[in-house]
Amino acid sequence: MNILFVSSEVAPFAKTGGLADVSESLPASLHDLKHNVTVITPFYNCTLNCGVPIEDTGLKYMVSVGGELIEAAILKGKIVDSDITIYFIKQDRYFNRAGLYAERGEDYKDNCERFVFFCRAVMEAIDVLKLDVDILHTNDWQTGLIPAYLSILYRKRAGYEKISTIHSIHNLAYQGIFWHWDMPLTGIGWEHFTFDEMEFYGKLNLMKTGVMFANGITTVSPRYAVEIQSQAFGCGMESVLRYRSPMLRGILNGTSTRQWNPATDKFIVAQYDRNTVNENKPKCKKNLQERLGLDIHEGSPLIGLVGRLAYQKGIDLISDVIPLWVEKHGVQFCMLGMGDPVLEERLVSLAERYPKNVAARIEFSDEWSHLIEAGADIFLMPSRYEPCGLNQMYSQIYGTIPIVRSTGGLVDTVVDTDDETLDNGTATGFSLVEDNLNDLNTTIWRTLNTYWNKKDVWQKIIHNAMRQDFSWRKSAEQYIRFYEKIRQ
Ligand code: ADP
Repeated sequence: MNILFVSSEVAPFAKTGGLADVSESLPASLHDLKHNVTVITPFYNCTLNCGVPIEDTGLKYMVSVGGELIEAAILKGKIVDSDITIYFIKQDRYFNRAGLYAERGEDYKDNCERFVFFCRAVMEAIDVLKLDVDILHTNDWQTGLIPAYLSILYRKRAGYEKISTIHSIHNLAYQGIFWHWDMPLTGIGWEHFTFDEMEFYGKLNLMKTGVMFANGITTVSPRYAVEIQSQAFGCGMESVLRYRSPMLRGILNGTSTRQWNPATDKFIVAQYDRNTVNENKPKCKKNLQERLGLDIHEGSPLIGLVGRLAYQKGIDLISDVIPLWVEKHGVQFCMLGMGDPVLEERLVSLAERYPKNVAARIEFSDEWSHLIEAGADIFLMPSRYEPCGLNQMYSQIYGTIPIVRSTGGLVDTVVDTDDETLDNGTATGFSLVEDNLNDLNTTIWRTLNTYWNKKDVWQKIIHNAMRQDFSWRKSAEQYIRFYEKIRQ
């Protein structure tokens, strides 16, 4: 099959979250299954400095945005360590900026126009590059217009007739909702501004557009696929998703075994596997404590956190419970993330208050994320909702026991510890049910009680966790089966 995978972020060229990881790893796994994959993404300011060679194809063409013709240039590179071609659409007016979608917590005012341009440029690129496409796979709101363009404007063009579309939802909370006067920018007629196509409570909704026009829809875990059809998690789209549910699948994200493997990790001081974890993980912990200026203490539990600092991730809850665990029990915390300035400030002030027990790094750093995954004993992820989540999987692979809230992909990837799951060898972490302080404290207590007082059980959980196979292969096979089903 010829698959064209379109995403607004692909690691390491541009990344704000899990979408970038998926957009790097899934195409590579589809390629491993002997399919022909091409990737297209915007060329951002950060793409220039990502350290991977990119060449100019010399190809330029004009793209219509709200009646104005704007130039698109195509650059070309390879997905890292693969043979997969990735094309970059370059237009500095839209993408040569400090952020991908926002700066200092504020969305760019012209985000609709920027991604209308990108989607239209992708549609034209199929012709310009003479791509043979069976499956056009789009991701999140930024590319939601593409299935609509195909069915409304391009279907009859030579080379586009046989294309089928899949739209993937990575996070339904971000839908790309814009005022209705952005509709003319798209070049699609007002007759499509209806509740069963692009309109959403009087506004233009690009995620909904993708969901309504794509032949198939996926989201990133089986549990989230069910949750988003309910009012609690549907972000207003629940009835749309229920309507489209016969063509909706939840397929779990995988992890990149090249990047996330403690036996080959180039960032950590002592590499390890299941046989050497007891000997080498403590060395990683000591190194992490040293580098963060924390007290060096093998026996104090070190709890890690890596992620966007957002309400979604329960960061407010974490900052509320830290004083208790530090003051009463000498627990240590190391946190890496960026996001909401209020939450950033809360973590920084906790680090200032408890310099020997709490460290907060407000930055985006691959290196620190690896050091934390390897050096921490426990990983905290009490998300209010979590479409899939990656760090709880990285943690298990690194023998770092996750504490998660039982929602979305966290349910599909972490098995709570109790007598039964210990007996049958499936226990890999600890889960809390409600997103409140009481449940969080009780679950931290349950975890630490095991860590301190039941050393053999703790070892068992580490070994169960490190045995998990979160590689992409199984999921890539599910995508292929779904592609085959929807192919026209
Ligand atoms: P989301 O996509 O909701 O942000 P995921 O868990 O799916 O959450 O993916 C987040 C990805 O981004 C993970 O690979 C995580 O390690 C990475 N990440 C998030 N924040 C940072 C940061 N500050 N530094 C390095 N990596 C980060």
